Amino acid sequence: MENPYAPIPAVLDEVVDETPTIKTFVLSPKQPVEFQAGQFVQITVPGLGEAPFTPSSSPYEKGFLEVTVLRTGRVTDAMHELKPGATLGVRGPFGKGYPLDQCEGKEVLVVGGGVGLAPLRSLIYALLGQLDRVKRVAIKYGAREPDELLYRSFHGEWGGQEKVDIDTTVDVARNGWAGKVGVVTTLMDDMDIDVSNSLCISCGPAVMLKFVTLKALEVGYQPEQIYLSMNRRMSCGMGLCGRCNVGPYYLCKDGPDMCFAKIKDFPGVFS
Ligand SMILES: Cc1cc2nc3c(=O)[nH]c(=O)nc-3n(C[C@H](O)[C@H](O)[C@H](O)COP(=O)(O)OP(=O)(O)OC[C@H]3O[C@@H](n4cnc5c(N)ncnc54)[C@H](O)[C@@H]3O)c2cc1C
Repeated sequence: MENPYAPIPAVLDEVVDETPTIKTFVLSPKQPVEFQAGQFVQITVPGLGEAPFTPSSSPYEKGFLEVTVLRTGRVTDAMHELKPGATLGVRGPFGKGYPLDQCEGKEVLVVGGGVGLAPLRSLIYALLGQLDRVKRVAIKYGAREPDELLYRSFHGEWGGQEKVDIDTTVDVARNGWAGKVGVVTTLMDDMDIDVSNSLCISCGPAVMLKFVTLKALEVGYQPEQIYLSMNRRMSCGMGLCGRCNVGPYYLCKDGPDMCFAKIKDFPGVFS
């Protein structure tokens, strides 16, 4: 990165309507932006500002970059109004990636809630690209309602791979939903997972991360085996501005994916 504050121009090639509130933006940066699954970028909407997003595309894909964005405020509202051909800015990547090296030989439990499946999709792609190195990938995913389930068209493809299974649930059943109903932690009851040889990696709203962590501990995971995507307010992305600290850690630099053992004793982990 030459000047880490200077965004690289990126042309918006495609906008994919994922759910009523979530869109995926397919970007072609003018210079390649290579990232590890779990690292994040700052996306600039010219004249408005920037916001952090973890790419949802495969880290093996060098030609384009995808971010999947929930409409929630100023920057994300503006992004949702964009049409292909617009130019955005990309800074990064920042932070550390998911602990892929630690997944070696393990059963990887991936737990996502809502738009939290977006960052996890880059992890899923990374794991699918090295399935020979893991024992299993078990994906548990929950959304508020069936229409808000992200990447539904990919679920069958992922779950159809040897060693990969996906289980989904919704908080409220609508529109003829015949699947499971309940919060995502209900999918962690009665799991046939060898917890002693497993990592639990989770991304979603803070309240969900709290209950996923409590459930993971209840079923026998040790704090060292739990990783949480701490996707909270960040600004500089480089550990300078101090907006994202938990204890001595800068989530933008030391995370955003943090081992629970490292942060569990500090205030504000789940707020
Ligand atoms: C490392 C990282 C990765 C992220 N990856 C993704 C992603 O892949 N997809 C995605 O949709 N979002 C992601 N986010 C969250 C995203 O950055 C925020 O939704 C965005 O910054 C909101 O900007 P805004 O200007 O649209 O909203 P604002 O106008 O700033 O705020 C609107 C509302 O959203 C709340 N808000 C703002 N930021 C966050 C946040 N980080 N978490 C929860 N609530 C927030 C505010 O409190 C307010 O209620 C990520 C955040 C981080 C730090």
